[in-house]
Amino acid sequence: MSPKLVVLGYGCYPNNMRYYSITDKNIKVSFKEAILGGLSPDRGLYYPEKIPVLDNSFIGNIGNLSNEEIAYECISKFTGSDIDEKSLKEIVSETIDFEFPLNELSEKISVLELFHGPTMAFKDVGARFTSRVLSYFNSSEKKKVTVLVATSGDTGAAAASGFHDVKGVDVFILFPKGRISAVQEKQITTLSDNIYPVEVDGSFDDCQEMVKDALTDKDLITKINFTSANSINISRWIPQTLYYFFAYKQIEKKKEDLIFSIPSGNFGNLFACLVSSGMGLPVKRIIASNNLNDTFTKFINSNKYKPSKSIRTISSAMDVGDPSNFVRVLEYFSNQGRGMKEFISAYSISDKETILGIKELEERYDYVCDPHGSVGYMGIKKHKELYDNFNYIFLETAHYSKFMEEMKDVVPSSLSYPERIKKILSEDGNSYKIRKYSELKDYINLTNS
Ligand SMILES: *Cc1c(COP(=O)(O)O)cnc(C)c1O
Repeated sequence: MSPKLVVLGYGCYPNNMRYYSITDKNIKVSFKEAILGGLSPDRGLYYPEKIPVLDNSFIGNIGNLSNEEIAYECISKFTGSDIDEKSLKEIVSETIDFEFPLNELSEKISVLELFHGPTMAFKDVGARFTSRVLSYFNSSEKKKVTVLVATSGDTGAAAASGFHDVKGVDVFILFPKGRISAVQEKQITTLSDNIYPVEVDGSFDDCQEMVKDALTDKDLITKINFTSANSINISRWIPQTLYYFFAYKQIEKKKEDLIFSIPSGNFGNLFACLVSSGMGLPVKRIIASNNLNDTFTKFINSNKYKPSKSIRTISSAMDVGDPSNFVRVLEYFSNQGRGMKEFISAYSISDKETILGIKELEERYDYVCDPHGSVGYMGIKKHKELYDNFNYIFLETAHYSKFMEEMKDVVPSSLSYPERIKKILSEDGNSYKIRKYSELKDYINLTNS
């Protein structure tokens, strides 16, 4: 047997998984290089050379496995030999150290709650995994890693929590002044130590530009080991494949006619669902639920991809006009030789419909849902009109209390803040305030001197 072919647990695969750049397939790197680089040198997104297929017996036996066992089995396929078994087991256990409950609302509709992590949105899983993996790879280095994050809210909150006190890693989180929710702002600005919150007098796009400026600033990159922790990094979607396995584990009946409705912005979550299906999870169909930033829905209906400027909606974490993972979704279907329309349906949901969804979920099922989850629910309603006979699951991607401004007039009598959120709202936040890139550069230099 070739020493490079090792059989690990269920299934058989080479343990040296490589990732290629979608824009130049000759560029191939290891898991470690893909994580540390973020983007490939030609600015392409990394994609796994081969989606690992799990053994049928693993899927069939999933009800008897713990979340940790499922997580190790799935994620070790992507990390290969770059992380040793003991360390990876620790990393995945810490990454998923909370509940992922599936609630049955009716005979045909369930909701998968992804907000039980520390910052109460699904971004916690990606941030916790990324921070631990970076720290693992950096533990033998003398030089610390500096992570730059631009955020429209949840990503920054998850990064602050996920990276807080992680050794050898500093994190600069750039958020647009006055454009994130009160809870998100406190989650970003109340931690200190290795977390550097930066309030930018500008938009999310300005924050993102400044991050790119820093990542390509010759003065800085000779001194500082930069990486970025946004959804282009493979470390974001790899652990998100687990949501779908955890949902499947909890389904009591009709495991074969499963449809996921995924409220989508940058399409990291949807891409993770595609990968889980490629790994062997029996997913019948995916519903891509967009708000009015519906570039993808328009693509499904017209075959034309026309990115547009984002518009503000009440499901703000999905206000993305040019989803960065779209190219990965395309790559998936061309590699698998499968038609996208046979597998994905897409709908766009207006704010008015989102509000209707929140009200209906509360009245019919006594379930309080945030605006993002409601977009997922309304996607199911549009699809169900066509096909009624499936088992539908929508993702609730954040706890509603993160979006109290949007919720407070819709279902006022059903709302309350969880203890965790109450506590953070009572704390004092602190951030460094900037208007232009040179001020960010000065700040980074100052903290590294
Ligand atoms: C980020 C986010 C989304 C969108 O997820 P993508 O993976 O970017 O499609 C949906 N809901 C909430 C609450 C989010 O924070």
